[in-house]
Amino acid sequence: MGFFKIINKGNGLKRLFIGGVHGNEGFTTIKSLKSIREEDVPSGCLVIYNCDKSKYISTLNHLYYESETGKEVLYLINHYKPDMYIELHCYKPENYYVLTNLDRKKKTGVPPLIELEKGVLIGSVSPLIRTTIFKKEDICITLEIPCTAPEESLEVYDNFLRVLARAKNREDLEKKARKIYPEQVDTSQKYAHEIFGDYPPF
Ligand SMILES: [Zn+2]
Repeated sequence: MGFFKIINKGNGLKRLFIGGVHGNEGFTTIKSLKSIREEDVPSGCLVIYNCDKSKYISTLNHLYYESETGKEVLYLINHYKPDMYIELHCYKPENYYVLTNLDRKKKTGVPPLIELEKGVLIGSVSPLIRTTIFKKEDICITLEIPCTAPEESLEVYDNFLRVLARAKNREDLEKKARKIYPEQVDTSQKYAHEIFGDYPPF
């Protein structure tokens, strides 16, 4: 069983942040998840889980959700039914190009990740869960950071996690994210629209 924590502030947005969903990514993501404090959550609740090391299977592969860790992830989503679902990943620097390449959709069926800054990338979660378990209006975001991240990337990653934890709903998040990353929010809305039609961002 990995690291688990609940911050409960009563009624409001239900958030679930999961780190290290495959391979050894949890080694990187746990530090950021542990840095989230009670006061970062204004209302509602935040469930934090960091998975133990597991075999690396891409979350775009349906076999992932049949693996032990994949089943844990599904269990947590089905149990807590979050309105906001955040997956924390890390990537090897040599994969930066593949993840952010504008041809990614043609090759893998999912849009490229968008760089916030300092190598921190943002995108949606696997379509295998986004379009089946989650509702249209839910907020589903993947955050990626280099696995051996320099301090400046960690700062961006941790700050954005805090923006997510503090958001009270979708509109509030969009307003707060747009203030710091206007172009990136526009791009993510464009990608979401390409996939889902008239669909909310993220
Ligand atoms: Zn990953």
